[in-house]
Amino acid sequence: MDETAEQHRERQEMVSTQIAARGITDSRLLTVLRTVPRHIFVPEEWRHQAYLDTPLPIGEGQTISQPYIVALMTALLELKPTDRVLEIGTGSGYQAAILGLLAETVISIERIPVVAARAEEHLRQIGLTNVEVLVKDGTDGYSPGAPYDAILATAGTPSVPPPLLEQLADHGRLVAPVGGQDLQELVLIRREGDRYEEYPEGAVRFVPLIGEHGW
Ligand code: SAH
Repeated sequence: MDETAEQHRERQEMVSTQIAARGITDSRLLTVLRTVPRHIFVPEEWRHQAYLDTPLPIGEGQTISQPYIVALMTALLELKPTDRVLEIGTGSGYQAAILGLLAETVISIERIPVVAARAEEHLRQIGLTNVEVLVKDGTDGYSPGAPYDAILATAGTPSVPPPLLEQLADHGRLVAPVGGQDLQELVLIRREGDRYEEYPEGAVRFVPLIGEHGW
């Protein structure tokens, strides 16, 4: 993998000080975060900041999420190696890479074609083959791949799009930022048969989920 000793060191420090220190304990997840070269997913001009405790611009008005938020959302999904995962909002592809290394397959949906193309290139660069990127409105999910053991929306929505709830497997977990355009609550939903149990997981700030069942 193309990286400097400095980038390697910064990434180990990112995981200890920003993620483990804030209470993320899942050791499979921490190992994956120590491994995936986040700087590959960050545009050249921001690459020197790739391991800082912050979201960064990736072009087209979109962002790569803060590392801790990626870790928190992933931890809430409690992924098993056999899980099938749906992500809405591919963005840089970094979150999709993390999901791909923890689950069996990932379908990640992005509405902006040029953003999706860059993400695919990044995923190819790190050699991931179980992550498929689709260009479409993700608010209606992707029924041909359903049901999903885990669904993650990485853009903020006024309410959870009903098709995503339908496409969630029994005992599945869904995580989405729900609320206004500027501030949302990270919500975890667990499906148990026809019951959907909802848990608030803290305030977050995401770009808007734009589509039929979003903004
Ligand atoms: N998970 C990303 C961060 C995503 S930013 C990462 O790891 O970098 C949110 C992304 O959601 C943006 O790229 C935006 O274009 C996309 N998006 C917004 N609305 C969407 C929709 N309806 N369907 C698919 N993607 C959407």
